[in-house]
Amino acid sequence: MKNLFIPVKCNRCGNELKGGKNSEVYLCFNCRLAFVMASYPSSLPLNIIKENFKVTGTPFYAPFYKMVGEFSIKTDDKKKMDTFSHLKTLGPLYYGAFYNLKGLYYDDLTVKYALNEDKIIESDEVKNYKLVDAFITPENLETIGRLIYLSYFDKSADITGVDVKYKLNSLFYALIPFEKNDNHLKELILGNSLVNSITFQPDE
Ligand SMILES: [Zn+2]
Repeated sequence: MKNLFIPVKCNRCGNELKGGKNSEVYLCFNCRLAFVMASYPSSLPLNIIKENFKVTGTPFYAPFYKMVGEFSIKTDDKKKMDTFSHLKTLGPLYYGAFYNLKGLYYDDLTVKYALNEDKIIESDEVKNYKLVDAFITPENLETIGRLIYLSYFDKSADITGVDVKYKLNSLFYALIPFEKNDNHLKELILGNSLVNSITFQPDE
C-alpha cells in the first residue's frame, strides 16, 4: 500500500527529493539514495549508470531494481546439469521498476544486462535527464529472480523437474539511460531498440 505521506526533502541532507507525483520511489541525487515510499524512511543505494552510446534523441533515465544474489540448481539428470553448468553465469539482475517494458521486452533485457555486467558502469555525474517514475515496488524480488533464472536455463534444456532457488543478497535502485527518437526507444547500455514501446512516453 502506498504511503500517503510524501516527503519533499531528503531526511539526511535536506535536498529536494526527485520523483513524479505517482512514483513509488523518490530519489536524493546528493546522497545517492532511493526512498521506497511504502517503506519510508528506509532506502536503497542509488546507482546512476553511464551511457555507452552517443545521445542522438531525447535522453531519459529508466528505473530498475538491481538485484545481486545467488542461485542454486538441483536435478538428478546429469546431462541437463552438465548443460546448465556450461552456461555463462549471470551478473546482477536488472528488473524494470516501470510498467511499460514489462511483458514487452523485459525478460530479454534483464538477461542481456546480466550477461554483460562489464558494460554497466556507474557514473559519478548525474545528467539532467528526464526521470521515468517507478510503479513497481520491490516486493517478491526473490521469486522474480528465480523466474528469471528458470527462463534462462529453459533456453538450453527443459527445466521440468529442475529445482532452482534464488537468494537476494543486496538490492540497489539503478537508473539506466535510454533515449527517445520519434517513435522508438533505445537503451544506451547495449544499444538495443525497443520496437514495441511506441506509446511509451518518459514522464514529464
Ligand atoms: Zn540526501
